[in-house]
Amino acid sequence: MARLYNFSAGPCTLPVPVLEQVAAELLDYRGPTGQSHGMSIIEMSHRTPPVEQARDRAAERLRRLLGLGDDWHVLFLAGGATFQFGMLAMNLLTPGANGQARKASYTHSGAWAKKAIADAKLIGDVDVVFNGEPEKFMTLPDPASAEAAATDGSTYLHLTSNETIGGVQWKAFPTKAHANAPIVADMSSDFLSRPIDLDPFGLIYAGAQKNIGPAGVTVVLIRDELLNQCDGKLINYLNYAGHAKGHSMLNTPPVFQIYMVELVLEWLENQGGLVWAQEMATKRSTLLYQAIAKHGAFYRCPVDPAYRSTMNVVFRLPSEDLEKQFIAQADAKGLSGLKGHRSVGGCRASIYNAMTLDGVETLAAFMDDFAAKHG
Ligand code: PMP
Repeated sequence: MARLYNFSAGPCTLPVPVLEQVAAELLDYRGPTGQSHGMSIIEMSHRTPPVEQARDRAAERLRRLLGLGDDWHVLFLAGGATFQFGMLAMNLLTPGANGQARKASYTHSGAWAKKAIADAKLIGDVDVVFNGEPEKFMTLPDPASAEAAATDGSTYLHLTSNETIGGVQWKAFPTKAHANAPIVADMSSDFLSRPIDLDPFGLIYAGAQKNIGPAGVTVVLIRDELLNQCDGKLINYLNYAGHAKGHSMLNTPPVFQIYMVELVLEWLENQGGLVWAQEMATKRSTLLYQAIAKHGAFYRCPVDPAYRSTMNVVFRLPSEDLEKQFIAQADAKGLSGLKGHRSVGGCRASIYNAMTLDGVETLAAFMDDFAAKHG
């Protein structure tokens, strides 16, 4: 079996030991006790102990990895991160039980923030406090600046911790003193890639299909401070409070995804958790940014060096024709998924937690060769 090095932005490469375990358990779920169940976990009722325990272990692992206190609730929801753009606004931007209008502040850092803002604007009052458009979304605000703070009276300040398409990443977040409201963050593409200080955050959401599992489940972490404000008139499924009360089993949850997320989190804890993840992310991304810098007349990373992503390394070659050749030749050598997002073109190497150093070294060597031949 020849597995490719998969640099796709998500769904993306997952840890091989996890995939092996899933394959081994598909006909007869055994779980951590090794006990036979005579069926796969995805054939069981979600109201049975193996499924409930997998969910609980996944939530506990998230609590341990991130150091979540008791005031945080861990939810596993369907609908992708896209669904969260609207769901969070429906919970926190529509009038609450007291009937008062609410507003929120948003930072506009690129393609994903744009979608979050567009959906929130359909629901309520939105102040855009930072707009990266004049700089072509190649940079971010200083976390201690007014551009990274909520305007007075905002229920929350929204940011996108890593722009998957643009390759820009917040390196530090506004502190509680600067944010002026709890931060709500879309961490889809750098979730669990580094330790973070949770103090200023009130809600964090992340689609699973980059760092933590297959597509189809989104982790939502919400703190009491914001959960208590989810008291507007909403249909059952849209209300965070209902999901928290039902421990993510308000309805049939995405069982297979939650089961796999738990296994990926187990793998991550065994590797060394978020400190390990950050060390590896730094190593992987440094190798690629160095390969770009080494051939500065050939490769070009357009992103402000202060905010270059450790997860999605974007780069251009001297012409679109050379980019096409680069992607095709890399693909032929088993380096797959290097095409930039269709909206921006160019090349992008997505290097999430499960990407091996070997994969990145192979790509860096290919970049050297290609530049030497065509530069
Ligand atoms: N936010 C970010 C930062 C993303 O990268 C993506 C997906 N690539 C999304 C939101 C949307 O996620 P989904 O497709 O799960 O709705």
